[in-house]
Amino acid sequence: MNVRGLAGLAAAAALAIGAVAGCAKDDTGGSTESGVALVKAGVLTTCTHLPYAPFQSKDASGKVVGFDVALIDLVAAKLGVKQEIVDTPFEGIKSGADLNSGKCDVAAAGMTITDERKKVLDFSEPYFDATQALATQTGKEVKTLEELAGKRLGVQGGTTGEEYVNAQVKQKGLKVEVVSFRDLAALQQALATNQVVAAVNDLPVWNEYIKANPGKVVVAAGFDTGEQYGFAVKKGNADLLKAVNDAIAAARTDGTYDKIYAEWIGAKPAA
Ligand code: GLN
Repeated sequence: MNVRGLAGLAAAAALAIGAVAGCAKDDTGGSTESGVALVKAGVLTTCTHLPYAPFQSKDASGKVVGFDVALIDLVAAKLGVKQEIVDTPFEGIKSGADLNSGKCDVAAAGMTITDERKKVLDFSEPYFDATQALATQTGKEVKTLEELAGKRLGVQGGTTGEEYVNAQVKQKGLKVEVVSFRDLAALQQALATNQVVAAVNDLPVWNEYIKANPGKVVVAAGFDTGEQYGFAVKKGNADLLKAVNDAIAAARTDGTYDKIYAEWIGAKPAA
């Protein structure tokens, strides 16, 4: 067979595979009344990485709740479906892999919008401002990364906090031992049990931890990284992105955003 014949066969095979895949998708996927495609019929499936209170964590009954959950509930309501949450490592969320493979429709994980992530995800309009913060045990405060020379500093793997610390260490030639933990709970546990002398993560999660464990930990220093969180959809999923943006915009206008903010974050910092 000549080359053109082979190419034709390959094209036919690809079409056949496409047809099968399309069929399989219709069996499990669905779309809303307004025509927004969903990976699972009747629900808006959200990927997140637990725990990340106050944005998403399990309450006493095991239900996932938080600021992000409340905002995505608004999107689900707008689409006429319920939200279903999938807990999965942050790496698959920020790389776009989970959205691309159809594990979920939307990612909501206190996730900072970055240029690198924008290449693999489509982000909503920013919905929350955050900075990085350095936490220590009470009475053991350090104000700078320089003071941590020869000591262990904890970060959370795959996050902007880890990136910030590594960039500072490299740029300033710091002699800090940076230790990476798989999730926020492991990082906070490490700080509480002296495995690290300080830990870097987003400011709101430290504030929440301090509220839940008064007196143990303090925010000793802040690093104004000017981060903003965004929800993400699979690249090109313009219909769902619009639904997300519309829901956030409506919530900002009608006061729902402020209510959710007060419930999960607390009083707004003076502008
Ligand atoms: N905001 C940070 C980031 O995007 C941390 C997110 C998280 O750990 N869930 O990297």
